[in-house]
Amino acid sequence: MSGIEFLEQAMDLFPNARRALLTAYADTDAAIQAINVVDVDHYLLKPWDPPEEKLYPVVDALVEAWKAAGDREVSEIKVVGHRWSAPSYKLRDFLASNLVPYRWFGADEPEGQRLLDAAGLGPEAVPLIVTADGRPLAAPSKTELAAAVGLSTAPGRDFYDLVIVGGGPAGLGAAVYGASEGLRTVLLERRATGGQAGQSSRIENYLGFPDGVSGAQLTDRARRQAGRLGAEMLTLRDVTGLEAQGSARVVRFGDGTEISAHTVILATGVSYRPLRCPGAADLTGQGVFYGSTVTEAAACKDSDVYIVGGANSAGQAAVFFSQHARSVTIVVRGDSLERSMSYYLIQQLGAIENVRIRTCTEVIEAQGEGRLEALTLRCSADGTTEVVPAGYMFVFIGAEPHTDWVGDSVLRDPRGFVYTGPDLIVGGQRPGGWDRDRDPYHLETSVPGIFAAGDVRANSVKRVASAVGEGAMAVTLVHRYLEAQ
Ligand SMILES: Cc1cc2nc3c(=O)[nH]c(=O)nc-3n(C[C@H](O)[C@H](O)[C@H](O)COP(=O)(O)OP(=O)(O)OC[C@H]3O[C@@H](n4cnc5c(N)ncnc54)[C@H](O)[C@@H]3O)c2cc1C
Repeated sequence: MSGIEFLEQAMDLFPNARRALLTAYADTDAAIQAINVVDVDHYLLKPWDPPEEKLYPVVDALVEAWKAAGDREVSEIKVVGHRWSAPSYKLRDFLASNLVPYRWFGADEPEGQRLLDAAGLGPEAVPLIVTADGRPLAAPSKTELAAAVGLSTAPGRDFYDLVIVGGGPAGLGAAVYGASEGLRTVLLERRATGGQAGQSSRIENYLGFPDGVSGAQLTDRARRQAGRLGAEMLTLRDVTGLEAQGSARVVRFGDGTEISAHTVILATGVSYRPLRCPGAADLTGQGVFYGSTVTEAAACKDSDVYIVGGANSAGQAAVFFSQHARSVTIVVRGDSLERSMSYYLIQQLGAIENVRIRTCTEVIEAQGEGRLEALTLRCSADGTTEVVPAGYMFVFIGAEPHTDWVGDSVLRDPRGFVYTGPDLIVGGQRPGGWDRDRDPYHLETSVPGIFAAGDVRANSVKRVASAVGEGAMAVTLVHRYLEAQ
């Protein structure tokens, strides 16, 4: 059989194995088929001399991605819970998004019951964590959990050169450049580093990754890179206030504590708008999810999955879940995907048998007792409704910036995105309260020394590459600001 036929059959037996296709010359048809049919992770050309450069790094990256995927058996951390309980889901999601490998047991499985018995607990105590050293933690808070799995939550000092708020690609980019250029840098993230990019099953358009890269893999590398270069990275730090006190910029946390710095970079990105229809809020975490949660992939087996939204993120999720679920249906309000989704993704979706696209359709209700069981869909063309069985719904319907907490401390546009640089000059006038005899730098906000980078910035390009680039550029402007102080 051909390499592609082989990988196709291997996929049925080992769906979580990484797949590489090797050819002796650049065979474009084989490459396209490999991407469309077997979702190949890497396309390798012979000869691979020298192997240290051309073969080993590829194999290393594939093994690393497989190890981080959480779909192999890991003995360290065990989680016991109920598949359809929101607290159990939140805990698994926290571990997965922070790339902490764990092993999952249902509370009704023999091993789950054994772990509960060993901890002297009943099924009502779930979710239960058993740490690598065998310590049971019943329904731990996120802070307890973070401490148990070795994530830092407390700052090492009171004053920094640079505080970065948000750990997506923009924040991580800024952390890598800030730390490598000698700034005392701390990155504050409220959930898990990686941001939206961390949720992407496959980023195809990031420079330097010809075969695409999973968001988790990309952000894990960035996080390790920033750490190695000396950036401090704190998780579960929800920043709730920001103000200028003299030359210091003060960042306040939800628990009332604060840290100060010479400069701040806001990189808080955006998050999905909630789907406002009956049942969606109650069933969130119980079959209804925002963004694509790789955690749920294996559980989707034999389920009918619905994806709401028509942008690239929805398309990527459909490709990803089609490898796990019985069927995947994309529900989109518009009459086609052409305006909202990249051509390559539309082509890819068209070649997948178990993916269906329902245009001119919206979800008007989510139903289920304790878990999602069905959806009511309405066809906007003729107003008819239909109830369809559904095990999972992943929602991707546009985004809102995370800036409510900023209040009036920096100027924002009517949708909440932060104005920077030239956008602050209106009719030749600098923003009110601006106390420098220069215009704001390109990524500087209406407060000198506070910068914004990535999706949170008004008029930004919503892409991984631009977010990373802006993070790096913001650090250059931080240096310029500090030199002029
Ligand atoms: C599923 C999906 C697929 C995508 N695929 C692609 C793709 O293929 N190619 C591409 O170029 N782009 C893609 N994008 C878009 C890309 O991921 C974003 O443009 C990029 O992540 C923006 O980076 P950012 O750092 O500005 O913001 P984000 O990634 O949104 O990160 C912001 C971070 O800030 C944190 N935060 C927010 N508020 C606070 C607070 N108050 N305190 C502390 N932390 C806070 C958040 O938790 C988050 O981690 C995709 C997005 C999604 C969701």
